[in-house]
Amino acid sequence: MGYHRTSSRLGTLPLAFDLPARIGQILMLQFRRLRRSGRNGRRIKLLLKIALPLLVLYLIDLPIHLYRTRVVRPHQDLDQPFATGCLDPSVTATQPRENATFVMLARNSEIEGAKATVANIERQFNRWFHYPIMFLNDAPWSEEFKDVLSRAVSNRTEVRFEVIEKGKWGFPEEMNEKEKTKARLQMKKQGERGVGYGDMESYHHMCRFYSGEFYNLEALRPYKWYWRLEPSVRYSCALTYDPFAEMARHNKVYGWTIALWEVGDTCPSLFRTTDDYRIEKGISRTPAWNALLQVMWFPAPVRWFLGLFRVREHDNSGHKWNMCHYWSNFEIANLDFFRGREYQDYFRYLDSKGGFYSERWGDAPVHTLAVHMLLPPEKIHHFSDIGYEHDTLWQCPGNAPMDQQLLGNKALRDMGKMTLPSEGGTGCRCKCQENKRRRNINSHCTSELTRPVAFHRPSWWERHNGVYHYAVNNPNNPRK
Ligand code: GDP
Ligand code: MN
Repeated sequence: MGYHRTSSRLGTLPLAFDLPARIGQILMLQFRRLRRSGRNGRRIKLLLKIALPLLVLYLIDLPIHLYRTRVVRPHQDLDQPFATGCLDPSVTATQPRENATFVMLARNSEIEGAKATVANIERQFNRWFHYPIMFLNDAPWSEEFKDVLSRAVSNRTEVRFEVIEKGKWGFPEEMNEKEKTKARLQMKKQGERGVGYGDMESYHHMCRFYSGEFYNLEALRPYKWYWRLEPSVRYSCALTYDPFAEMARHNKVYGWTIALWEVGDTCPSLFRTTDDYRIEKGISRTPAWNALLQVMWFPAPVRWFLGLFRVREHDNSGHKWNMCHYWSNFEIANLDFFRGREYQDYFRYLDSKGGFYSERWGDAPVHTLAVHMLLPPEKIHHFSDIGYEHDTLWQCPGNAPMDQQLLGNKALRDMGKMTLPSEGGTGCRCKCQENKRRRNINSHCTSELTRPVAFHRPSWWERHNGVYHYAVNNPNNPRK
């Protein structure tokens, strides 16, 4: 009787999630039944004879397996801010430049948002540096959009309006009509399940485009670096050095501002697919890769089972992805990496698995997994000194001390009121919405992904309050 009641309660647990809990509960149940039945002595001894060696094996297996999936911390910070406080833009803007462009994918309907972004980036950075701004669209640009946006930039900034060439937007060329119909059905189902943007075909195309085809655009061929913009984003500090030049000088490939937890139901099989690719290509695990893992504490046979039977969300070793990824609506990155053979090969592999449509794989997790699989961690740069806001999420650095704010500087004289400096601050003339918390929600997972480059291990309290740990007198500071 009692058995039935308990077993129906167990039946409501999803198998893959709580397997160990389930096994534990079943064992406890059997144990109680034995004790109740009175014939306890011999049977309990037998049970212990089996359970104890298993426990010992588990206790041996666990540290080995934790050791193999550990994230080694470096002996010193391998990724520091490129500058602290303000530099004189009339000097830094005359230094050697990189072959770089801003890129913004947008729709004709997003005039207002696009204009706001462009006006903001011009004010905070580009009125000194004048990097070109390229607008991309899958449809022809309206005269109005071109007109308004051309007038939103300063005189010396060049703007270009590009239409994405055929074959680079939409379903992969090799897909036939039958497969497309199937994909549309799958997207409809995602919508019904409540997956964000799941039933919006154009959003799937956008994610696929930014994941791979973007890098093969003719219009981007002359450039080595891009800085991605979106309509209605806001930069809340002045950026008084050339981030492209600093990326090049420090041998960086990928730059980001905000790291977030992904919503799992958009891409349940992406991590497994990526892990399959990694193993197929013989790419070994690195600290950067391990930083993506949610390490499973299950005993080895359970992990093997999860990997072997491709249980949803688990990789070949039975681990999961911790869901942390760079929010790719801000990116400053090297195009050569993304249009190179390794990355493009990975993109084609993903494309062949159909997950851009059968699921809603986003370009943000795709870029993140690739970068952590293919690059050493010191080639990834966190722009902790850039203030960035999009929708409801932001990163706003604390300001560097007043003597590093160049208060008398002519180029910066119209920057307006700034937030008061805070200890360890790196920002230049930042205006933050909140003085204390530099990142607005604790679902930011910055400290997960920076583990392989950060010497300091932040405490829970520091993570919660978004406290940065970078030397203020940074040896990399170009002023010195
Ligand atoms: P979210 O940030 O994930 O909510 O996605 P957004 O709606 O902001 O889209 C990301 C970027 O892609 C923005 O720059 C949009 O303007 C752009 N975008 C999305 N879908 C389309 C589309 O169908 N056509 C064009 N031209 N741009 C798009
Ligand atoms: Mn957006």
